[in-house]
Amino acid sequence: MCGIFGIYAHPSASQITHLGLYSLQHRGQESAGIVSIDENGLARAVKKMGLVSEGLSGTEVDTLNGAMAIGHTRYSTAGSSTLENAQPVLARFKGGHIALAHNGNIINATEMRRELEAQGSIFTSTMDSEVLVHRLARSPSDRPEDKLADALQGVEGAYSLLVVIGDTLLAARDPRGWRPLVIGRLGESTVIASETCALDIVGATYVREVAPGEIVAVSNGGALRSVMALPSAALKRCVFEYVYFSRPDSTIFGGSVDRARRALGRQLARECPAPTADFVFSVPDSSNSAALGFAEESQLPLELALIRNHYIGRTFLQPTQAGRDAKVKVKYNAVREVLNGKRVVMVDDSIVRGTTTRGLVSMVRAAGASEVHMRISSPPITGPCYYGIDTPSREELIAANLDTTQIAAHLGVDSLGYLSLEGMLSAVPDGPDGFCHACFSGDYPTPPPTDPEKLRFGCGC
Ligand code: 5GP
Ligand code: SF4
Ligand code: MG
Repeated sequence: MCGIFGIYAHPSASQITHLGLYSLQHRGQESAGIVSIDENGLARAVKKMGLVSEGLSGTEVDTLNGAMAIGHTRYSTAGSSTLENAQPVLARFKGGHIALAHNGNIINATEMRRELEAQGSIFTSTMDSEVLVHRLARSPSDRPEDKLADALQGVEGAYSLLVVIGDTLLAARDPRGWRPLVIGRLGESTVIASETCALDIVGATYVREVAPGEIVAVSNGGALRSVMALPSAALKRCVFEYVYFSRPDSTIFGGSVDRARRALGRQLARECPAPTADFVFSVPDSSNSAALGFAEESQLPLELALIRNHYIGRTFLQPTQAGRDAKVKVKYNAVREVLNGKRVVMVDDSIVRGTTTRGLVSMVRAAGASEVHMRISSPPITGPCYYGIDTPSREELIAANLDTTQIAAHLGVDSLGYLSLEGMLSAVPDGPDGFCHACFSGDYPTPPPTDPEKLRFGCGC
């Protein structure tokens, strides 16, 4: 996954983008980058592996002049963790430069890339996003927004995009609206970002979403132009953005993530109550709001029973099983004084492999909990995501291989309750229709990509 941020017409464009990227760090921790464009049309990029705070120094960001900038935080699987794949992509073509930052996954990128390679195109990365740069450069249209519309014809899958062509900042969202993208105002400047928490940090006010299928262009003094040139499709906003991915202090898809998560927690408490419990606690931080909702609905106290260490370096993340077990202990610890002798409800937003959850349950038991009732504020994840969230393959997804009773036994809990699909879709703002829920339901809005493994490792996000 990725976070994107862009600003038009601000004297400190790159510094503001830097700030915006800090608040989009949760969307990608692998690399971060900024491209700025100055008054003379000169584009410069700084891209680094690692966190925004580790990689992008203020001194380097200060070398990026100009009133327009776009930035990107990237998360991908290990195979494609290289600097060539860091974004924004910056390229030069006959009309000047093109800079592009992408969140999502283009599912027919492999086919489009083969076609372009057959015609002689050369690629410098393994990202799906680079295909878009070639398509932009080939467009015969004059206006930047028309070039982008040309480039996006026939592109299947998920994209929220920021693009700079010449002195124009462009934003686009795929017709299904898979990933969020919001527009804000900072004085006379236009700001566009994945989530509203990035508007808040720079002091911008929220204006509206980029609509699904919309291309927005800003140039010549900052008036927004809007083009609806992409073929329309049924709305498929990613419900997992509400469940897990976005920050609770953001508004996405026109709704509050905090309100969504509380409603998910309340619905979970109605569907899977735990009447014998003494209290509720969350697996911090992603399920805090859902645990609040569960506690409110069930009229149980909310306790802080697990403490998360926020200072773990990324270098610690080990792919081996032994490494994963140690990772749980480094990341979390249980509060014995809270848990000892208690019957508890442990709320989390999702179970993917079950590895972390199993480690946490044994930690909670070792701290003296007498009953552990696990409650999950989304349905079992039974399939991979092809649209930008990095879920593992089906073989590694615990709920694709075991039923709820077997999962409860594997985790070592006294009871396990997942939110139903209907319950989830009725709880999120503007539900139940217009959401993608493929990883939970198997109802994929597109045919699977022809080469899903390659796509996972080659994706630009
Ligand atoms: P598991 O028990 O499956 O190993 O881990 C479940 C935990 O992973 C949950 O706390 C959930 O919040 C978190 N989680 C869910 N999806 C993702 C994801 O895409 N990336 C990361 N890093 N964590 C996730
Ligand atoms: Fe979101 Fe799941 Fe759909 Fe992927 S498959 S876009 S994670 S709801
Ligand atoms: Mg979590």
